[in-house]
Amino acid sequence: MQRLIVLGSTGSIGTQTLDLVSRHKARFKVVALACKSNIELLQEQIEKFKPERVAVADEEKAEELKAKVDCEIVTGENAAADVIDSDADIVVNALVGFAGLRPTLKALEKVQRLALANKESLVVAGDLVKEYKKKFGRELLPIDSEHCAIWECLRGSKKEQISKLILTASGGAFRDKSKEELQKVKARDALKHPTWSMGAKITIDSATLMNKGFEVMEAHFLFDMPYEQIDVVMHPQSIVHSMVEFVDGSVIAQLSKPDMRLAIATALAYPERIETGIEKLDFVELGQLIFREIRHDVFPAIKLAFKVGKLGGTLPTAMNAANEIAVEAFLNDKIPFLKMYRIIEETTFAVGKEGVKYNLEDIFETDKKAREYAKKIVDENA
Ligand code: MG
Repeated sequence: MQRLIVLGSTGSIGTQTLDLVSRHKARFKVVALACKSNIELLQEQIEKFKPERVAVADEEKAEELKAKVDCEIVTGENAAADVIDSDADIVVNALVGFAGLRPTLKALEKVQRLALANKESLVVAGDLVKEYKKKFGRELLPIDSEHCAIWECLRGSKKEQISKLILTASGGAFRDKSKEELQKVKARDALKHPTWSMGAKITIDSATLMNKGFEVMEAHFLFDMPYEQIDVVMHPQSIVHSMVEFVDGSVIAQLSKPDMRLAIATALAYPERIETGIEKLDFVELGQLIFREIRHDVFPAIKLAFKVGKLGGTLPTAMNAANEIAVEAFLNDKIPFLKMYRIIEETTFAVGKEGVKYNLEDIFETDKKAREYAKKIVDENA
């Protein structure tokens, strides 16, 4: 029996994780759950999965929940990290944004396996995450369809046999739009993602392709791969989740219908494989696989991420903070779509420091400064 902690349990990844737990009750037991404020859904989850403790970041909501359930409730800014204890075997970190960093580090300190959907942890402090993983001898498995695919393609291969990691990109909601059209798009248009159903923040990140930029960094840290050996190709069908090219010229890919339960199940059950409930592929129905070039002139996020990633230091930390502020402003219709790129690029280089070695304090300070800087640009616009 594997004891499980699910952070971000009311979000898209969290609910799909719990769906898998329901399918494999003899294999997984939920010991703790954490969410920000959706206590209605959390209450249902408590009744169904009977965790020993839960975290609700919002203090008022936590108070409200206390009257309704018989379960230990922790609250406050660090609540998600606080429910992590060494009585668990796996932590699923599906929190959104920078808020996931502290729980990531705590999970690596306390628990054998971290199933990481919070890619921002790796973007903002990749070196620190790697250091913790090594120091405590932990397993770090990605819950991200592309990285799960690469993980699978690498099973049994040596690092020196790899020539390239090839990430696929769906292209997001605006993949066919011209630059002129992008000047007029609104958040509500972006929230209709063509192939994946996800939370609001990552859906906007997908529309800007910043999500893919982050995934390039995620791949760099997870697989210890130089940026020169990472590539991105557009694949609008989201059937090929990513590929690895080897020195002999062969390419291994992972394919399935787009369904995050595959990546979650892999992270939970590895090296085993478990039933996921996902629809199987019909190749004749599929007919063909389509690949295209990324339009970097229209969507500059991936090139920026490569540049920022190579320069390193706290530049990626600043980039992530600026992105969070820009996305929030766009979601609230405060700024136009293309303005997000300007906010991100300007803040990154104004606040971040290239190539520096950092500690956790530096990361928090950079994050804070970058948020303030990015907010100023947002306000100038308003
Ligand atoms: Mg992904």
